[in-house]
Amino acid sequence: MDTLEELNRRGFVEESIDPTLDLFDEIEKLKKEKNAIVLAHYYQEPDIQDIADYIGDSLGLSQEAAKTEADVIVFAGVHFMAETAKILSPEKTVLLPDVKAGCSLADSCPPHLFKKFKEKYPDHLVITYVNCTAELKAMSDIVCTSTNAVQIVESLPKEQKIIFGPDKNLGAWVAKKTGRDLVLWNGACMVHEIFSREKITKLKERHPNAKFIAHPECEEAVLQMADYIGSTTGLLNYSVKSDAMEFIVATESGIIHQMEKANPGKTFIPAPPNNNCACNDCPYMKRNTLEKLYLCLKNGTPEVTVPADIIAAARKPIERMLEISASFGL
Ligand code: SF4
Repeated sequence: MDTLEELNRRGFVEESIDPTLDLFDEIEKLKKEKNAIVLAHYYQEPDIQDIADYIGDSLGLSQEAAKTEADVIVFAGVHFMAETAKILSPEKTVLLPDVKAGCSLADSCPPHLFKKFKEKYPDHLVITYVNCTAELKAMSDIVCTSTNAVQIVESLPKEQKIIFGPDKNLGAWVAKKTGRDLVLWNGACMVHEIFSREKITKLKERHPNAKFIAHPECEEAVLQMADYIGSTTGLLNYSVKSDAMEFIVATESGIIHQMEKANPGKTFIPAPPNNNCACNDCPYMKRNTLEKLYLCLKNGTPEVTVPADIIAAARKPIERMLEISASFGL
């Protein structure tokens, strides 16, 4: 049977919090006391984005994790992101507010099956989207994000054969943009596959001046309708630069908080899913709360660890990504 200490370490014990505490103040105090930094993904709830030292997408968060001087990184995101931070900063303690914050896309590519898939294409180079497990990264030649995937493929000689995984939609978009023939793993993100082309068409009719902007993890049928396709940061930047006053946004709805902050007076409408649920909220990202973030900083748990051999093997393809990104000024 697990001891209380073990359950606590794995983040399974819920602790009550004094309701009179101002969690924003308490988190700031704990950050100083523990020399900790909070890195938050754009898909986190607004309170977490507002308390974070750095908010970004996967590329920006990886760059930040590689250079921080902090002793403790609290990663307000999902498990594979915390693993990436640990791979880049193995000497630091990396905490994840909710240890069950996983990812449907990472889960769609079990490492043992990917290993067999890779064996079928021995002369292919493996590029994996950062949204995968550390074990998968360790089997890769280069990691990429949605910000740099096109440039990473273009940086390779034309005759180089490539496997791209785990996201088939991002892979198909990159293949189209680069004119390259990529061998795709059949994985997908449940949040980005949920958007309804029919409902978006109707919404566009009601908002004829709205720009429809989409993340490349969406399906091809949805991407065909888009005025702009880009990474989460790309979508945010486009919303700032565009003269349009209304936007229909096909990605996880958390990014709308930063879009509204950066664009007072502009309107952002989440693209509708193909049913009536709030399925464009990532259920994994939204497992993290301000309360859990406070408790994880206070208790130093749940901690994300990665075996030393996986760190050594996964670090190379991530560093290669960071080098190629830097050479493109990304
Ligand atoms: S939005 Fe999709 S890819 Fe991102 S963490 Fe959630 S399930 Fe994974």
